[in-house]
Amino acid sequence: MPRPGPGELLLRVLACGVCRTDLHVTEGDLAPRRPTPPGVTPGHEVVGEVSALGEGAAGFAVGDRAGAAWLRWTDQECKFCGRGAENLCPNSLYTGWDADGGYAEYMTVPAAYAHHLPPGYDDLELAPLLCAGIIGYHALQRAELPPGGRLGLYGFGGSAHLAAQVALAQGATVHVLTRGEQAQRLARELGAASVGGAADLPPEPLDSAILFAPVGDLVLPALAALDRGGTLAIAGIYLTDIPPLNYSKHLFQERQLRSVTSNTRADAREFLAFAAEHKLAVTTHPYPLDAADQALRDLKAGRFDGAAVLVP
Ligand SMILES: [Zn+2]
Ligand SMILES: [Zn+2]
Repeated sequence: MPRPGPGELLLRVLACGVCRTDLHVTEGDLAPRRPTPPGVTPGHEVVGEVSALGEGAAGFAVGDRAGAAWLRWTDQECKFCGRGAENLCPNSLYTGWDADGGYAEYMTVPAAYAHHLPPGYDDLELAPLLCAGIIGYHALQRAELPPGGRLGLYGFGGSAHLAAQVALAQGATVHVLTRGEQAQRLARELGAASVGGAADLPPEPLDSAILFAPVGDLVLPALAALDRGGTLAIAGIYLTDIPPLNYSKHLFQERQLRSVTSNTRADAREFLAFAAEHKLAVTTHPYPLDAADQALRDLKAGRFDGAAVLVP
C-alpha cells in the first residue's frame, strides 16, 4: 500500500486504461525511469477514488473521483514552464514511467497534477480520456486543423477514435487510414468520410494529418497526402525510423512536420471540459487487472478497436 507524500493523493484505482506507451515501457522501447527499486508499475489513464490526502494536498476531498494522467510533475522553474509549455519541461516526471502508475489497486498522484473528471461518463469510459483523449486533443491543436478543414488520421486506436469525434464536432471532414477491419468499421460508424488502408492516398488533399501509428514509414504517404501549407503532427512518444524524404514530394509548398510531446495541464483541462460539453462515444474493452499482460498483447496485435481498460 503506497503512502501519499506531501501534496499527494492516495487513489483507490477504479479503472486504468491501457495505452500504447505502456507497451513501449513493458517491452523496453522506453526504459523505466524510476531509480529504485528497478522497474515500474505502468498505467497513466487512472480513474480513482481519493482514499487519503498527504500533508498539504489541496483541491480534492476523501471520496472524490479523481484522474491521474501521464504528466506527473514539472519544476515550474525552467524557461519552458515559464512560458506555459510545461509539456517540454526537461525535469518533468511521468506516471507509470518515473513513478508507479495505475496497473494496481492503489497509487499516489500529486494533487496539483490530478484531474477532476467530467460528469456523464462511467469509470471505464473516463480512463481512456486521460491519455488517449488528452493527447489526441493536443495533437489536433498541433496539426492546426483549420475550421471546416480536411483531416487525415493515420492509425485508428484509442487516441484517434476520440480525436476524430472532437474534429467532427468542430465541423471537420475526417479521413481515416488504418489497417485492421475492426478499426476501419469503428471509423465508419463514428462518421469518417472515407476509410482506407494504412498507406493509401485519401480521396482529397488534407489540410492536416495526425500520425497515431508508431510507424515511421507512414510519415511519407501522410506528407504526400497534404495540401499546400498542410501540417502533419506525429502523436506518439515513440516512432520507428523515418525513411529519407523527397523535398518536392513531401515538404515543399510549405508543408510542415511536427511532433507532439505530452501535454500541459491546461490542454488536459480544456479537453476534459470539451468532453463534459460533448458526450464522446468511448469504445472500451474491460480486462481484469491480473490480465494486464493479455491486454498489452491484444493491443500489440490490434485485436480490439477503441481502448482496453483494466479493472482491479
Ligand atoms: Zn520546467
Ligand atoms: Zn498514454
